[in-house]
Amino acid sequence: MERESLEMDVVFVGAGPANLSGALHLSRLIAEHNAAIGSGAAQGKSLGEVQIAVIEKGAAVGAHILSGAVMDPRGLAELIPDFKEQGAPLESEVKEDFFYYLTQSRAVRSPINPPPLNNHGYYIVSLNRLTAWLGEKCEEAGVNIFPEFPGADLLYDESDRVLGVRTGDKGIDKEGKPKPNFEPGVDLLAKVTVLGEGVRGSLTKKLIRRLGLDEGREPQVYSLGVKELWELPDDRYPAGRVTHTLGFPSDQWTYGGGWIYGMQNRVLNIGYVTGLDYRDPLIDPHAEFQKFKTHPFIAKLLAGGKMIRYGAKAIAAGGMNAMPRMYSDGVLIVGDSAGFLNAARLKGIHSAIKSGMLAAETIFEALLAEDYSSAKLQTFEARVKESWITPELRRYRNFHAGFRHGRWLGMANAGLQYLTGGRAWGIFDRDHQEPGHEAMEKLSPHERNGNVAARYRDLRFDKKLTFDKVTDVYHAAVGHDEDQPAHLHVLDTNICATRCTEEYGNPCQRFCPAAVYEMVESGSQVSVPIDGNPTVREGANARPRRQLQINFSNCVHCKTCDIMDPYQIINWVTPEGGGGPDYVGM
Ligand code: SF4
Repeated sequence: MERESLEMDVVFVGAGPANLSGALHLSRLIAEHNAAIGSGAAQGKSLGEVQIAVIEKGAAVGAHILSGAVMDPRGLAELIPDFKEQGAPLESEVKEDFFYYLTQSRAVRSPINPPPLNNHGYYIVSLNRLTAWLGEKCEEAGVNIFPEFPGADLLYDESDRVLGVRTGDKGIDKEGKPKPNFEPGVDLLAKVTVLGEGVRGSLTKKLIRRLGLDEGREPQVYSLGVKELWELPDDRYPAGRVTHTLGFPSDQWTYGGGWIYGMQNRVLNIGYVTGLDYRDPLIDPHAEFQKFKTHPFIAKLLAGGKMIRYGAKAIAAGGMNAMPRMYSDGVLIVGDSAGFLNAARLKGIHSAIKSGMLAAETIFEALLAEDYSSAKLQTFEARVKESWITPELRRYRNFHAGFRHGRWLGMANAGLQYLTGGRAWGIFDRDHQEPGHEAMEKLSPHERNGNVAARYRDLRFDKKLTFDKVTDVYHAAVGHDEDQPAHLHVLDTNICATRCTEEYGNPCQRFCPAAVYEMVESGSQVSVPIDGNPTVREGANARPRRQLQINFSNCVHCKTCDIMDPYQIINWVTPEGGGGPDYVGM
């Protein structure tokens, strides 16, 4: 197939806060340098016109961007010191902080706010709006932004140097054949490619595996945040109020907690995080969130309100010990793709922005030296180490690991870490952190006999306070052309109706927050023994054959299936450009 090649200088993959900040900062560094050379204020050679591109799989910048989000403004203030005067879309400055422990029926307010969750002076934002605004700043600075261009593959030379990125083909039907509107993807060639695809980026995952960039690091661990926006009928929850909760409905072995942020115009931003290292395969993070809303404290707050938006996104929670090597020949990894989030503070926008800026400074030096090798680009990690990012992440480096021992020991460990600058002792001093999916336990015999719904037995979706996944997905404004190949590749579907049914009860049906995975019955009858070898059964012992159905058009691109599948046989790849959620105002 003939493909067009476009020669750029620097390509940023993904229009999130890290990459947009990187592209903006780089364009300014180049403009300032060239102006100084031109005016004689500095010596050396001008860099001339440097082509910088940002490609984005969503229909517009911000369409796929979702976050809590309370933003520590430190990163943005370095990028755009007068961000307020320039009209950055901020919902509200944080004015009040609350922390509650929820029992089954009571909400107990903590007399002190845990220090990492002290948000005074920070801002509640819609990250969707903030990134759209950063995208405008980039375009004003001459950066080329290409929405609807997913990165499908990285391009390498024979020595594994990254040469750029191939964008996804358009106009392929569900059988894999070209349609009349077929357009092959473009090879964007670049001196440096920057991966800022968000959590569990599909190209980042492949790059890390191909080059062993995670060698000697802890495996990354993740959480899933599920969120709704509500319109309230009155001013019962003012803009600028921030509440975090612990306890109900999570059991003590499941890392989780809630958030409630007051936005402008009586809009409430409410969500729940579930650690993607839970033990019970019957857990459903979307149902945990729905159950959270049934607590009397929360239900009272939402009474008479209307749910208007929905979204879900995985969060990289492993901290600095789980960050991969962030450079190689011709490539850098930034933001959530590298795991810059501080899980204890529930904050990553500030460090994502800073990581993008540090990447820009590294690339600027590389452009001057005309050297894009690993040896040159490794200064990115040195910059990260010398910046304020590292002391912040170091202080909480063992935060998530403590919760492997349950909620209370996890909390005790978090407090100790705060006091000791992140040190860990005894059972918290891990020498091996397992990937989250390995923590999932197999079903008990009792559960295998059909008692799989007990955990959420009392949960009803009344479509006023609580919503099923399909109704919620409607409020994420998800759109994918259904006549395209599924972007969720299940590498061995034989496992689904055999081993996975017996061992875990097909947890993809639960951990996906968008009802993408469904086990449906088909005609023939087989038995499903635990050894994974199905045999035909007759008569009373026969069970209907079940098979996996993938409703890929519901997918909100949260990446949970790629992370949490116990057999690691689900591979999320980019769908046709422009498909996916539209997180306006989220
Ligand atoms: Fe998330 Fe995977 Fe479900 Fe898509 S299919 S919404 S990526 S869990």
